[in-house]
Amino acid sequence: MSSDCDKVVNHPPAMKPVVLVHGGAWAIPDDLVQASCQGVQNAAKTGYRALTEEGATALDAVVAAVCVLEDDPAFDAGTGSVLNEDGDVEMDAIVMEGRHLQTGAVACVKNILNPVKLARLVMEKTEHVLLAGDGANKFARSVGMKEVPTSVLVNNDAVKELDHFKKFKKTVNGLFSTRDHDTVGAVAIDRQGNVACATSTGGITAKMVGRVGDSPIIGSGAYCDNAAGTASTTGHGESIAKVTLARRVVYNMQNGHSAQQAAEEALSYMSTRVNGAGGTIALDRTGNAGIAFTTERMPWAWVGSGSLHYGINPGEDFTMAS
Ligand code: ASP
Repeated sequence: MSSDCDKVVNHPPAMKPVVLVHGGAWAIPDDLVQASCQGVQNAAKTGYRALTEEGATALDAVVAAVCVLEDDPAFDAGTGSVLNEDGDVEMDAIVMEGRHLQTGAVACVKNILNPVKLARLVMEKTEHVLLAGDGANKFARSVGMKEVPTSVLVNNDAVKELDHFKKFKKTVNGLFSTRDHDTVGAVAIDRQGNVACATSTGGITAKMVGRVGDSPIIGSGAYCDNAAGTASTTGHGESIAKVTLARRVVYNMQNGHSAQQAAEEALSYMSTRVNGAGGTIALDRTGNAGIAFTTERMPWAWVGSGSLHYGINPGEDFTMAS
């Protein structure tokens, strides 16, 4: 005999939304620490606000957060991008959502303020996952995205850095202990348990014209799957691509590692296998965070459950009410 209680459907409790961002793994000099920490906090708060709006998704949150970082000249993405060997700006960006594994990316795109928005449009308005170079700019014009002069994207630091690192091949291994790059990224989970990720970069100073790093490559610069979690990466792009770092983090979570263990294992593998340094942020499918880096510093911040956490040096975790 059935009672009223038998008719109750136990929906899983709504997930607590979380947004976690990074501002690039490298040897950030002391004079950039404050701007970097402030920038990631602003981005995490903006992403979280976007996530708590009616109907907003994890994808909305990561795009909103990364736009803040792209607009902040303290970071190497959008405004503040580093220069290639010809003194030009070529940017890479990716977005991905974990429900249907939809993704979109742009590589070597020029004159765009927010490449992450263009990556999202590739995902939503084309049948492709990655558009590069002139094709990406042609697509931007076709969807009415404004193009800006290169000078709008470039700051004095980028010009000075190019002078120091003219010979990419001789300096590539030293780049991550210098003042030259700070790729940005975000991961998020929404109330429905959907995860998303986004990564955006100007790449590496003095890179060859046409060089595409890890950031816009699925599984390298970012990856997510509702079944496991989400990750965004930063660091030496050629190393990250060789070990498909973001996919490895998500795979680790799928196989029972916590987000923190997953991030640490993947970076340790990259270090021993290809001698590469970098960082990653991750959320598992219930919103637990993993934050790890093998460089000197990586600014990060997350917002969830009414508090904001941030840090930049190894082992740091400052908390305040959000
Ligand atoms: N991964 C980026 C690239 O190689 C750089 C970075 O993360 O700082 O293009």
